[in-house]
Amino acid sequence: METRSAKTLLFSVPDWDGHDPGQHVDLKLTSADGYSAQRSYSLASASSPGWVELTVQTVQNGEVSPYLVETMQTGDELQLRGPIGGWFRWHADLSGPVLLIGGGSGIVPLMAMLRRRVESGVTTPFHLVYVTRTPDHVIYSNELATMAQLHPGIVIDRLYTRAGLVDDVRAPGRLTLADLPGSVDASDAVDAVAGTGSNGTHPGASRTRVYVCGPTGFVENAAQLLQERGHAPEMIRTERFGPTGA
Ligand SMILES: Cc1cc2nc3c(=O)[nH]c(=O)nc-3n(C[C@H](O)[C@H](O)[C@H](O)COP(=O)(O)OP(=O)(O)OC[C@H]3O[C@@H](n4cnc5c(N)ncnc54)[C@H](O)[C@@H]3O)c2cc1C
Repeated sequence: METRSAKTLLFSVPDWDGHDPGQHVDLKLTSADGYSAQRSYSLASASSPGWVELTVQTVQNGEVSPYLVETMQTGDELQLRGPIGGWFRWHADLSGPVLLIGGGSGIVPLMAMLRRRVESGVTTPFHLVYVTRTPDHVIYSNELATMAQLHPGIVIDRLYTRAGLVDDVRAPGRLTLADLPGSVDASDAVDAVAGTGSNGTHPGASRTRVYVCGPTGFVENAAQLLQERGHAPEMIRTERFGPTGA
């Protein structure tokens, strides 16, 4: 269990060749009477040939997620298809700083990117802004804390919408413009540090690659704020965790 309602599941998939962080799989569950349901889940690991790691958040009254989190047992089998997705993905050869904005279980594909960044040993700056209801809803809490501590290029901000920690400076609430860093051009990093632009970034710079993932409303709000913050639309990639059909 990652939290009281989110669980990481590890599946042995002998002919799985690996994947890029950000990609997902489609799971298909079929009951004894032949009824089947299919849902998408992001790949949580950096890449793991032979294994597929997923983290599933229970959706109340959901058809598939409560089964995966509460009922599925070691040794149970299901069908999966993937890796899927060519747009929402990051790999270590890509240049430029990375900004990750995650809401709730939207952290999963972003965590795969962070894990790949760490495993590949590159120094690409990564900034994660992770929004959950309360500190108890933070998935991968210990691993995120360790990453930020051990890797100087990784910055992690945790924000809460309902209730935070007693010493939090920020009052709980939904994501706002003030919560988002501006875009940074890697080649102008020195200017940016010196505060060349009015908001501490280089004017017109739009090199930061932005990945936003979470519930549909969260993603749309974040994408709007990012553009107001000066991020170019073509640098913003989004993934919505809405319903995916039966
Ligand atoms: C590309 C992609 C990747 C995804 N990756 C993950 C992942 O890594 N981890 C994860 O936990 N989920 C992920 N999801 C969401 C997942 O596919 C399911 O939608 C989710 O598990 C709910 O399925 P369910 O059968 O339990 O609920 P359903 O029976 O489909 O829905 C039950 C009720 O909840 C609402 N609902 C459905 N999905 C959501 C949701 N995500 N948030 C809030 N309300 C919802 C429905 O409108 C409905 O009213 C991803 C979705 C997509 C499209």
